[in-house]
Amino acid sequence: MITETDTKPWIKYHTEEDGSPLIQGSDAWKAAPTYNRLTYIRELDERGIENRRLSLWQCECGETTKAPRGRVVSGATKSCGCMARESKPSLAHGMKYTKEYNTWAAIKARCHNPKNKDFPKYGARGVVVCTEWRNSFESFWKCMGSAPTSKHQIDRINTLGNYEPGNCRWATAQEQCRNTVSACDWYIKGIHFETAKEAGVYFRVTEQTIHRWVKGYFDARRGTQSPPKASCMAVYRYPER
Ligand SMILES: [Zn+2]
Repeated sequence: MITETDTKPWIKYHTEEDGSPLIQGSDAWKAAPTYNRLTYIRELDERGIENRRLSLWQCECGETTKAPRGRVVSGATKSCGCMARESKPSLAHGMKYTKEYNTWAAIKARCHNPKNKDFPKYGARGVVVCTEWRNSFESFWKCMGSAPTSKHQIDRINTLGNYEPGNCRWATAQEQCRNTVSACDWYIKGIHFETAKEAGVYFRVTEQTIHRWVKGYFDARRGTQSPPKASCMAVYRYPER
């Protein structure tokens, strides 16, 4: 038997039970229907052209957009508008599909698209791409320049920091490894650790919890920001870089 939910998948994902929108990264969110770049969030009490009811959608690029469901399901609307902007000829148009462009797309996805496989390691931990870079490949490229070789990848100098000017460089996998494994000395509740992982093992919490203790974190469900714990810090070992 075909149920209404089979033919209209958005019914199931309308909202959380209390009427709040889906929480990014929750199971309901991951299962919510996606069409092209848009993932369904919830219905809106608004009407658009031709008096058509609008729904709220999450775009892969990180923006949200309002569009009638029919247009999204049929593919008439595929994105928040970023797709059209990307295909516009521009200064950096010739860079499309290059390493630099792919890197720019990849960091945005891992930080701002809850469906990206790397989101738990980045976006869910509060790592963001700064607004300027997020909105413009040109501005990212101007700041980063070209990768010196095909072996170089983007690397955050402070691994607790964001993708933003001053905290990123092109590095080889070997250099990155040194950075991520032993970039910081961790001082957690009066004990020194070489890595967050070691601290996690000692306190029987996840590595992510150690990061939260040091950095504080944003609880998306409650909408509250928890401050870092006073007794926890990470000190960068190579300040000269
Ligand atoms: Zn978009």
